[in-house]
Amino acid sequence: MQNALQNLQLQYNIYNSEIEPEHESDYYCNCPIHNYQRMKWSRYGVQNMWSNAVMYPGQHTFSAFLVPLSE
Ligand SMILES: [Zn+2]
Repeated sequence: MQNALQNLQLQYNIYNSEIEPEHESDYYCNCPIHNYQRMKWSRYGVQNMWSNAVMYPGQHTFSAFLVPLSE
């Protein structure tokens, strides 16, 4: 999991390990950022949130559920 984040940070030239790349999208997005976010959500057992986000595409629902890396 930590490796997945590090790969993502490398890919987006993020050198601060505290920072997670973010990407706002109103539709189902297959970019590395959203793949990582979905992987992280499923790890925390909240995979249903993505379907909620899809149901209400006008809202940036998922942004509210980003979990601090320290947890
Ligand atoms: Zn995306």
